[in-house]
Amino acid sequence: MLILGDISSMWVTGHLAFAYLLIIPFYLYKKKEMEPILILNIFIFANLIDAIHIGPLRLISHNLIGTSIFVAFWLLLFYKINVIKIGYVPILIIAVASHVVGDLLFSGYSLLYPFENQSYVIYGWNTPEHMIVGSLLVFAFLGLFLMNRDYSRLREFLHGEEQNFLHEFKFNKLFSSNFVTYYVFFAFRLFIIVQLGLFIFSNITGLSNWIWYTWACLASFVLCAITFSMLTFKPKKLNL
Ligand SMILES: [Zn+2]
Repeated sequence: MLILGDISSMWVTGHLAFAYLLIIPFYLYKKKEMEPILILNIFIFANLIDAIHIGPLRLISHNLIGTSIFVAFWLLLFYKINVIKIGYVPILIIAVASHVVGDLLFSGYSLLYPFENQSYVIYGWNTPEHMIVGSLLVFAFLGLFLMNRDYSRLREFLHGEEQNFLHEFKFNKLFSSNFVTYYVFFAFRLFIIVQLGLFIFSNITGLSNWIWYTWACLASFVLCAITFSMLTFKPKKLNL
């Protein structure tokens, strides 16, 4: 899976926040907890079609036919290697649909390609609307994610997988369902850090012009990157 590419996309944090915020009310209403593997896959599938976000390749996955084929392939693969359960499929399709809506609002989506070579977008990339909505989504996501125990449950899960990997490494475990999710998520976290670097250093968002919403967007990005980095960080207990 290719994860690097040009960056004219709704930011990765906005996509994952939007997907989570669409799905979590259902679980809160039912007073149910999402399984850690499902949460991680929501983050991944909310950004999946950006995995081939390299120049013109973006077009391949950013149209209805391309999205359907690309996502069906990954759903089938993840199902076959037991990473996801069949019950996750409708939820992950909602995550993918949220990406399409996000791109239609803020970065462009060629709905009917190859029959029509037209990219549709309502506001545009890095417009004030994009930055403000993106920041609000991420702040709302972080608030809910940290408060409803999803963060701590995910941290427990990922930390356990990391310990498994470091202390009881076996080759065949590389293909176990938990572990595939673990390293796909590891790549995903790198993707967030890379995008954050681009956000800061390319100055495409106008940070140096001191526009408040670009700084709000940066703050949401940094907090999200820290939260995701902390998911596997566990300080050693001091034996005093
Ligand atoms: Zn996209």
